[in-house]
Amino acid sequence: MQQSSISREVNDRVRRLAGELSAWEPSATYHFFCLCDCVEFVELSVDEYDECGGDVFKTGHRHGLTRRPRPPDVAPTAGQQYA
Ligand SMILES: [Zn+2]
Repeated sequence: MQQSSISREVNDRVRRLAGELSAWEPSATYHFFCLCDCVEFVELSVDEYDECGGDVFKTGHRHGLTRRPRPPDVAPTAGQQYA
């Protein structure tokens, strides 16, 4: 599972909890993970989170921009495995 998938799942849980808490304090803000895999927080109210549809990014962060390049395929081929 990619970090962004985990972050989105955690954000969904925070959103559900925040929805209950916001009944008492509608203007409260909560920390959601930025989905670009930077593992930084974005502070949003429940309304702001709903407006962006869960697509949470810090300013200037987007998919692909800060993600590390995919590592090369280094799986050993048969025969090299126990060399
Ligand atoms: Zn980010």
